[in-house]
Amino acid sequence: MQAAGSSILIDAGMSGKKLELLLKEEGVSAEGLDAVFLTHEHNDHSAGVRGLSKFGRLPFFANQDTIQALQPKLQKRPNWKIFETGKQFSFGPFTIHPFSVPHDAYDPVGFFFEWGEDDLFNPPSSLAWVTDLGYVPTLVKERIRQAKILVVEANHCSKMLEEDPKRPWSLKQRIRGRHGHLSNDNTFDMLESIEGSCWEKIFLMHLSKDCNDITKVRQRFSKLKGQGSRFSTFVVDPTTAKSIRI
Ligand SMILES: [Zn+2]
Ligand SMILES: [Zn+2]
Repeated sequence: MQAAGSSILIDAGMSGKKLELLLKEEGVSAEGLDAVFLTHEHNDHSAGVRGLSKFGRLPFFANQDTIQALQPKLQKRPNWKIFETGKQFSFGPFTIHPFSVPHDAYDPVGFFFEWGEDDLFNPPSSLAWVTDLGYVPTLVKERIRQAKILVVEANHCSKMLEEDPKRPWSLKQRIRGRHGHLSNDNTFDMLESIEGSCWEKIFLMHLSKDCNDITKVRQRFSKLKGQGSRFSTFVVDPTTAKSIRI
């Protein structure tokens, strides 16, 4: 994310090399990154920590449990910056609120970022980053409502997950459980149930490569109340990481 003159990365789920390439396409060099923020230790969120930690001074923000889970897998100690879940902190132009989400990791969080002032060149804005959660507790829903930019998961199509031949039943149960992931229907219904949202843009991401389909997501979320008039919705292609407007 680039905002208020800062470039930050939320989660680093690809190898350092791949991330560097993707960042380059966005006009950001890995050396130019100001910080990385980690939601939890799962590999699809942390695989790039090793590669990016070669930029010795780059700060990695995470909570204690996430760091404890990751550090044994790393040779070097990244420049960890510890935050406490539920306690706001600042970095550069941002005020950051990390909040708990229900997911099967040590201490998984979502982030609410706020920045800007009442100033034409630096208007106030906010972003909520909410991926990897089995259901949406009330407090998380409130963060989602307040965000001008919302990044939320639409992980799987329930039918495709049900019919997937590769995943054993136990894993399917984990994915759809209270500490798993939100399906397209879960996310759609949750967004529909929110009154008085501040959304300008919604990004749907963390789509399962096997158990979801961009076309299905586009069709479904094009029917979101307010989509195209009050806000615009994008879906992030899990293969290319590019966002496609709905
Ligand atoms: Zn996860
Ligand atoms: Zn994940």
